[in-house]
Amino acid sequence: MKQKIAIIALVAVIVLTSAVVETSIQFSNAKQTQGVANLSRLDEFFIAATKEPANGTSVLLITIDTLRPDHLGMYGYNRQTSPKMDALAKTAAVYTKAYATAPLTTPSIVSMLTGYHPNRHGVRLLWQPIESDTVTVADHLHRAGYQTAAIVSNIVLGNEACKLGDRFDHYDEAVDEPEPNRPHMLERRASRTTDAAVQWLERHRQADRPFFLWVHYIDPHGPYTPPSDSPMDFAHDKPIPISEEKIAEYVREPGLTDGAEYVDRYDEEIAYTDREVGRLVAAFDALELSMPPLTLLTSDHGENMMEGHAYFSHGYDVNDAVIRIPLIARHPSIAVGMNDRLVSISDIAPTILDIVGLPVPTGLDGFSLTVPSGAITIYAEGLDSGGSGGLHRTLIDAHTKTVIRHGRSNIPRESWAFDLLRDPHQKDRIATGNFSATYRALAAMIRSDPDPGGRPTHLANHEHSHGPVAGNADSKATRALRALGYIE
Ligand SMILES: [Zn+2]
Repeated sequence: MKQKIAIIALVAVIVLTSAVVETSIQFSNAKQTQGVANLSRLDEFFIAATKEPANGTSVLLITIDTLRPDHLGMYGYNRQTSPKMDALAKTAAVYTKAYATAPLTTPSIVSMLTGYHPNRHGVRLLWQPIESDTVTVADHLHRAGYQTAAIVSNIVLGNEACKLGDRFDHYDEAVDEPEPNRPHMLERRASRTTDAAVQWLERHRQADRPFFLWVHYIDPHGPYTPPSDSPMDFAHDKPIPISEEKIAEYVREPGLTDGAEYVDRYDEEIAYTDREVGRLVAAFDALELSMPPLTLLTSDHGENMMEGHAYFSHGYDVNDAVIRIPLIARHPSIAVGMNDRLVSISDIAPTILDIVGLPVPTGLDGFSLTVPSGAITIYAEGLDSGGSGGLHRTLIDAHTKTVIRHGRSNIPRESWAFDLLRDPHQKDRIATGNFSATYRALAAMIRSDPDPGGRPTHLANHEHSHGPVAGNADSKATRALRALGYIE
């Protein structure tokens, strides 16, 4: 009997030891610079747990930068911009009330990968890195034995800018095509993004392991320059003259003041991206996987057309044009069809964890799309276009959108609301009623924000779009620009 117990104990020690060794090997690509006595929460996350029993469902997450849902066929657009995405949508749930947490790439993408709103994960600006101890869905999947890979094509998602690359086994951020008006903003077009993703699926994926692949396309982001060899499908009948100053500077094409022409080109960018998304989904669907996979398609934020504080741009305020996003989810556990529940980009991380069979951490802001009812209110925030250095913040429920504007302190300067049932296009601001439950919830959120004014204190004077927060002369971006001849 004693001998039996000793054998069981020995086996247990071997199993535990091998689990720890495996965890530390899997974590080898992440930071290991700290001594054992000085572990971060992320280190503890990896060391504490043995391998979680995920069910082996592979995941493809596609994000298309700056994509408005109302410019897609599945959401009723009258132009054929998205036949491939529409075909995917026919076999999936299509969420009609989906919102980004911010109209800005980095904060919104970090919400997507963590399940937290920006006031919880703390990333408020472009070029601001994720905190080293914030756990992402990629970390969870890596720990569960998944192969994790990302193919990103926007320089602000480069590892140097956002530090998300450290969280994936494979992070392809090969951007080298400069924007016409901002040469420091490097990108990679959709055909090359799809090539890289398909190559990873075909050559680097290990057939005996489940995987998480995130692919981020940049093309609909301004300035709108569809490839010249891409077929041009859209032309307008009547020009819409607009004043040049209304157009965001980085999008302006000298002498072009026909708003309808900008819309045509935005739609061409979508149609071009759609063909490339079709190619990626076809390659993914051709894989022989042991479990039905999860496919998700969304955007990091929308885009003003001829609306908002600056035409054909995003980043500021919380108008629907910039915070509404498309969201498509395909998996046997999610009902196919149009779905009008309120959903947020922060629902993506818990949805992935839930569907692969991992525990969803308590206290996330997002909800899994598989649970019957999700959020009652949606939160989003955008930089204040009024120049206060603060934010516009909104809470949206089934019938009201409440907005509070504040400067660098957390004291509200202004507030307003929209009656979404009577005024779905949000033309008429109404009083918030300072005692409404939504107003009070939003005001309480602002008061308890660890960063007064909604941005980290050490970045208080950083302009969100003016280059790396921690830029240095030998940064990858600087080296790329030097190689391209933009700087000496
Ligand atoms: Zn973006």
